[in-house]
Amino acid sequence: MRFLIGLIVTTALALAGAAEAREIALTFDDAPIPDSAIMAGEARTQKLLAALKAAGIAQAAFFATPRDLSPSGKARLIAYANAGHIIANHSRTHPDLRNMTADAYLADIAEADGILRDLPNFHAWFRFPFLSEGDTREKRDAVRQGLRGMGYSQGYVTIDNYDWYLNALANNAKRDGKPIDDAAFRELYLETLMQAVEFHDAIAVRTLGRSPRHVLLLHENDTSAMFVGDLAAALRKAGWTIISPVDAYQDPIATIEPDTLFLNQGRVAAIAHTKGAKPRDLVHEREDEAVLDKLFAERVLKQP
Ligand SMILES: [Zn+2]
Repeated sequence: MRFLIGLIVTTALALAGAAEAREIALTFDDAPIPDSAIMAGEARTQKLLAALKAAGIAQAAFFATPRDLSPSGKARLIAYANAGHIIANHSRTHPDLRNMTADAYLADIAEADGILRDLPNFHAWFRFPFLSEGDTREKRDAVRQGLRGMGYSQGYVTIDNYDWYLNALANNAKRDGKPIDDAAFRELYLETLMQAVEFHDAIAVRTLGRSPRHVLLLHENDTSAMFVGDLAAALRKAGWTIISPVDAYQDPIATIEPDTLFLNQGRVAAIAHTKGAKPRDLVHEREDEAVLDKLFAERVLKQP
């Protein structure tokens, strides 16, 4: 009898798991990122494209920050687009709306639009640098309205994380001539990213009663080029299906503009905050430089 009940429970859980699709899209910010201590920008683009293709990820999105886009930088964006990926707007100079007026901020977005709009596979999506929508409701609402006026929708994320800091730690070690354990770094990266995914999905399930179509924030950096194939495999092993950002932005949460200034942890956390969740419960423990410094020193840096 106990066995039978156990079997029924196990089967019910399996069916529930199968019925509840877990879907996630990958997005890469700040493209084209310049040469780093670890690799040249052009080599990074080729490595990232090859890894996406090998992993069977037909479409990701690149949120570009074109600044004074060089011919080689432009060629890199076109290479992503020609491989089927989406190019979108992440401002021209990566400003923080906290430090400027809404008008100046919108002008920077319009400059990026002028540079990016004619590229193949351009989508009028805007992602806020630092996920910051400013320090006042007036600015936030002025920019939201300005974006709508420009025909833009928000290229929000649902899963924030510190991939950029892990990337910086590896680059600092390289520049300082400190050898690292590559396998240990890969493991730390995958563990940190997967924890962030599950952390934000748990917030979503608590807040929305379901797992939305997620949007993962990554950067067009060395860790993405090195590990995106491993990350895709880890996601799939955990039951995730990788989808296009176009499909992710069809989720009902795409139409919600949360009425809060707690926006820099992504849309799911922002919605949770509007429903009373406390900020400290919406930030993953590894979104902390000191925590990652310690893990990197203990596990990745080779001891002299
Ligand atoms: Zn950025």
